[in-house]
Amino acid sequence: METLRPRAAVNVDIDELYVYDRIHGHAGASGNPAGFDVAAITPTVWTRGVPRFLDLFARTGVRATFFAVAQDLAHPDVRAVLRDVVAAGHEVGNHSLTHPYDLSRQSEASIHKELSQARARLQDATGRAVTGFRAPGYVLSPALCEAIAETGHTYDSSRFPCPTYQAAKASFIQAYAMLGRPSGSVAEPPQVWFGPRTPYIERLPSGRALLELPIGVLPALRLPFIGTAALLMGLPSRVALAPLLARADWLNFECHGIDLTDHDADGVPDRLRTQPDQRVPLARKWPRFVHLVEDLARTHDVWTLAQWAEAGV
Ligand SMILES: [Zn+2]
Repeated sequence: METLRPRAAVNVDIDELYVYDRIHGHAGASGNPAGFDVAAITPTVWTRGVPRFLDLFARTGVRATFFAVAQDLAHPDVRAVLRDVVAAGHEVGNHSLTHPYDLSRQSEASIHKELSQARARLQDATGRAVTGFRAPGYVLSPALCEAIAETGHTYDSSRFPCPTYQAAKASFIQAYAMLGRPSGSVAEPPQVWFGPRTPYIERLPSGRALLELPIGVLPALRLPFIGTAALLMGLPSRVALAPLLARADWLNFECHGIDLTDHDADGVPDRLRTQPDQRVPLARKWPRFVHLVEDLARTHDVWTLAQWAEAGV
């Protein structure tokens, strides 16, 4: 497909609150994956955050990609929201079966199970082919890349070549370890921080090829172009950001379902107030997201990641 405007995509990782409990070491609260009953949780991110993203995309005329954790489908409310996502014409991608942060370090057999069972469940629930994968915590390994290709995915979108983010994440993991609250997150080696910024084909040791659609960084200084960073750093004014956006040839704007939750109105537990997205009320976050996606759609062709994968690099 020929395109005249620069390429962009918008996507949402649907990490339910239990995922954040694991990041912050609240394993006893709801983060413990062993014997964990998803049907018994309150799926706040799915039922509050995701519908707001659907509103945002309806308003801005954008088709997006939602990366879902397949075990969440055990909850009937989650299945209802997923149906709305599909009905609105968005893509559903695979964000693993249980969102294990150490997926890249697991055995080949458990990696395969995480990927293939998740893909099967998501395809079953959506009635659509699931072709894309995003790794929990954005961490890949050669074995994981092989498994992504082997289990029928045509692209991966997990590389985040952003030195600012990767350095912050590494120091955060270290700080939690020093506090005696080991985080579930895994740090990436520095060579990943400076990897390609635009789509490319990764040659795997087996000879297989895997298309990588990296997560967004701005050409200037590789600043992160993701929802969470926008909230963390304070979004530069719309006017200041516009020329930076217009120049970027590949912008993969990655959001999280939690970005559009409201800590007080949605009843998010207080132990998660340490999350940057929880400290900004929805009334302040919402217009930032609307402006950002509106501006992106004005200057770029915003397609789903599956559409870009089909178009090739
Ligand atoms: Zn995630």
